[in-house]
Amino acid sequence: MNEAETTAIRVEQAQQSRLSQVDFNNLKFGQTFSDHMLVAEYVNGHWADVSIVPYGNLSLSPATSALHYGQAIFEGMKAYKFADGKVSLFRPDKNLERFNKSARRLEMPEVPEEIFIGGLKALVDLDRDWVPNTEGASLYIRPFMFGTEAALGVHPADSYKFIVITGPVGAYYNKPLRLKVETHFTRAAEGGVGFSKNAGNYALSLHPTRIAQQEGFDQLMWTDAKEHKYVEEAGTANLLFRVGDTIITPSSDTILHGITRRTIIEIARHWGYQAEERHVSVKELIDGIEDGSVTEAFAAGTAATLTPITEIGYEGQVYTLPDLANREFSNKVLQYLNDLRYGRIEDEFGWNFIV
Ligand code: PMP
Repeated sequence: MNEAETTAIRVEQAQQSRLSQVDFNNLKFGQTFSDHMLVAEYVNGHWADVSIVPYGNLSLSPATSALHYGQAIFEGMKAYKFADGKVSLFRPDKNLERFNKSARRLEMPEVPEEIFIGGLKALVDLDRDWVPNTEGASLYIRPFMFGTEAALGVHPADSYKFIVITGPVGAYYNKPLRLKVETHFTRAAEGGVGFSKNAGNYALSLHPTRIAQQEGFDQLMWTDAKEHKYVEEAGTANLLFRVGDTIITPSSDTILHGITRRTIIEIARHWGYQAEERHVSVKELIDGIEDGSVTEAFAAGTAATLTPITEIGYEGQVYTLPDLANREFSNKVLQYLNDLRYGRIEDEFGWNFIV
């Protein structure tokens, strides 16, 4: 083992890289992991033992609190490689902000910037050869934290692990989406945990999503818990619509505040479009599709960036959106985002964080 010391992060390098075993032309999302991971421990009220170690299994007590009571949160983000070899993280400060918001709601400790951003930077720097350099490909980064107290009983854990794993992902094929408006099951209610990125929000989505997929849809369009009348978000992405020169996106504390959505809204405003973050009723959306005023609809998230929606199923009826070729805003913003993230245009917003 080769041990080195960098700004309080202990580094234990893998003896042998697994990089040469990876087929970069055939990457399945979430199945390939880089050589190293970052691990930090929270004990006795503070973070300690921040280290980068070879990627590998954890040893946990069967009483590990997160496995029973669900104190488990995560983030999803990406690093991109520029043509000149520079590696860049896209708006990692926003992921840190959201991570700590999730932590507070689940009564978990916040992770300080020097561990979250500093740790990410050191980890991605060490494994920079794992960042693919082909168009559309990137290094997916998964920071997560969970309660590790080895005891039963419902209370906030007294110890936590913060871990970051990474892995190369290939170009995402933006298959257009058929969404089903969900009017029975609920993802999140007011006062609940919809805005936080915790494991339970994904567990509860699996059964309703499977039903929708059996009916021939790709994903759900969640609606509000009270009346199922307001549009919320899709499985792992936010929703945006275009009406005239206005970009409209549902806003409420029951949805996850996506960084891709925020980025697209900021670009739209910068380009002179109006942007509205507000409640959007299913009726407004369906009426707008029927009278032709909704000209574009898409899902936005880290995994796929921007995915056009072609059809929406609602109470047994299917509503079809305009042709993809006419989606001027979606196509333009997707191109702009890709150019920005691969360093092909000037970073006028200061969103790239060079490692
Ligand atoms: N909603 C949900 C439920 C998600 O899981 C995601 C993916 N993180 C998003 C929206 C989009 O968020 P982001 O743009 O930050 O990836």
